[in-house]
Amino acid sequence: MGKSYIVGIDIGGTNFRIGAVDKEWNTHYFRKVPVGEVFCQEDTLGALTDFLRKYIGQLDGTVEAMAMGLPATLNRERTVLLQAPNIPNMENLPIAAALTESFHIPVYLEKDVSMALYYDKRKYHIPDCEVLVGCYFGTGIGNAIMINGRILAGRNGTAGELGHIPVDGSSLPCGCGNVGCMENLAGGKYLAGLRLERYQDTYIGDIFTVHGSEDELLLFVDRIAMAVATEINILNPDYILIGGGVPAMKDFPQSYLDERIHFHVRKPYPEQELRVIYTQDEENKCVIGAAFYAAERRRD
Ligand SMILES: [Zn+2]
Repeated sequence: MGKSYIVGIDIGGTNFRIGAVDKEWNTHYFRKVPVGEVFCQEDTLGALTDFLRKYIGQLDGTVEAMAMGLPATLNRERTVLLQAPNIPNMENLPIAAALTESFHIPVYLEKDVSMALYYDKRKYHIPDCEVLVGCYFGTGIGNAIMINGRILAGRNGTAGELGHIPVDGSSLPCGCGNVGCMENLAGGKYLAGLRLERYQDTYIGDIFTVHGSEDELLLFVDRIAMAVATEINILNPDYILIGGGVPAMKDFPQSYLDERIHFHVRKPYPEQELRVIYTQDEENKCVIGAAFYAAERRRD
């Protein structure tokens, strides 16, 4: 019997990552290219189809399914992308159906952070439970909520938009079209802006090493804690996974974040029994996570 793969795809704001994941969950033919290199024409779906056809053509085995993580809101059925500030010309297209028709295999879509949660759940041996949440702090805030083993979609598909809780007193514009959303104050974008404004001499990767004890950065970490605590206070999760590029930065004050999460969470419960797990930021997390996701969907 020849080799067979699930192709996992992770479309980020900057990079497009793809890999062929085998039955033992090892990644082969991993590629990372700038998003613009894949979506280099107005017909985004056509460009994506061409790219995938070339990619699949070079594999030494068959492809059983594809799954794609997107930095976007998706419809409840996970077939159409509703809004993606960072991917041009993809909104309201029947992506899953078009790719299924082109490749004659099941094609699944989910939010990129849902794929990260699938990966982390397995990697950190999280048992099946009622409520599992993932809060990922990168350029923005990614959030995935798993209820009894299923990603919570919500009526319109937009559940788990933790980054867009409103913050009093902020008038910063957000990619979603609103103003004053949390992710503009507790995501990497804010950090980059703060550096330009106050710490131009510091390389962004050293910002916590050099300035981590200053009020501005402590407030930034406190806002991350507020976002996480908001989720905890509403859902009382069995486990809370925290990850993304920001907590993975050099000298990020994880113990201070922990302290502030405990400060903001309701007492005595859930505060006394919080199970917070800090996850590593990994290059192919969402690619393998997408394969886990596709395997589960196929079993259904
Ligand atoms: Zn927003």
